[in-house]
Amino acid sequence: MALGLPSVLPGSRPSIGELIRHGQPTFSFEFFPPKTPAGERLLWQAIRELEPLQPSFVSITYGAGGTTRDTTVDVTERIATETTLLPMAHLTAVDHSVAELRNVIGRLAGAGVRNVLAVRGDPPGDPTGEWIAHPDGVRYAEELVRLVREAGDFSVGVAAFPYKHPRSPDIATDTEYFIRKCRAGADFAITQMVFDAEDYLRLRDRVAAAGCDTPILPGVMPVTKLATIERSEQLSGAPFPPALAAQFARVADDEEAVRQLGIEQANHLCRRLIDEGVPGIHFITMNRSTATREVWLNVAAGARV
Ligand code: FAD
Repeated sequence: MALGLPSVLPGSRPSIGELIRHGQPTFSFEFFPPKTPAGERLLWQAIRELEPLQPSFVSITYGAGGTTRDTTVDVTERIATETTLLPMAHLTAVDHSVAELRNVIGRLAGAGVRNVLAVRGDPPGDPTGEWIAHPDGVRYAEELVRLVREAGDFSVGVAAFPYKHPRSPDIATDTEYFIRKCRAGADFAITQMVFDAEDYLRLRDRVAAAGCDTPILPGVMPVTKLATIERSEQLSGAPFPPALAAQFARVADDEEAVRQLGIEQANHLCRRLIDEGVPGIHFITMNRSTATREVWLNVAAGARV
């Protein structure tokens, strides 16, 4: 549901919600918080290499627990202060009381971060295990959206699942709960990674048919290794599109051919999504710049996203 424009102070940067609703299609990059000094170097190399592409925003995922959670806030703050990029922090409800969530939100605000992706998170250790809310925490992303909105002038995004969330009993229930969290105050949504434009379009159409106009950005990750396919199946709980899987199976023994095919497919997917009028494309980078840059440059050659 459109909530109108968040107030913007003179001279301050537009929020992600504003960029998505009021400009040309956005493009954005997602990173994860590194666990080691080598991982940190890789992340910053990717950030510096992608910065010249002037993405609309970049996002940092929230760790499942432990120190990477602080790293999320630290990296997001560093991006806000040391680069030209507009950062968004992901935030989850896992193992946090409401007081702790407010504390993290306060740290983000203090660092000048005004964009938050509010997701519930999965049980730590086994993402498919039983979800148990913190006794003083929140149960669903919908409540987290409210918490962030109440805490200040934030632009808030939520997660969307083209194949339904693995725990939702059916597509209709999934759509209903998705719309509830949009109406709780989300300005935009980002999908789980998609590999077939039709899957994204079905989600967009059913949400629109239910009367919700929250813009939904497709998440895109170029397949560079066969392991990516397995990982995507674990995360989405849905099979990788069989026709695409068959193409990868034919070149499975040749690493470079897998990578080339992954880039070609991502190019094709992005062009189709742009032709369909998506509000933007969110690239999942896995903290590497090369594949994302290749796809982006190819897509940008046809249209400025
Ligand atoms: P919710 O919207 O709360 O939904 C969870 C389940 O509960 C769904 O089945 C939903 O249908 C159901 N439900 C919702 N509301 C209700 C209700 N009121 N009553 C009954 N059932 C309800 N995880 C991380 O740990 N860190 C990250 O940084 C991160 N970033 C992500 C970014 C994107 C773009 C996406 C798509 C996912 C991300 N995730 C991340 C994964 C996410 O945390 C998990 O997929 C999680 O299981 C679901 O989060 P959600 O916000 O969709 O949850």
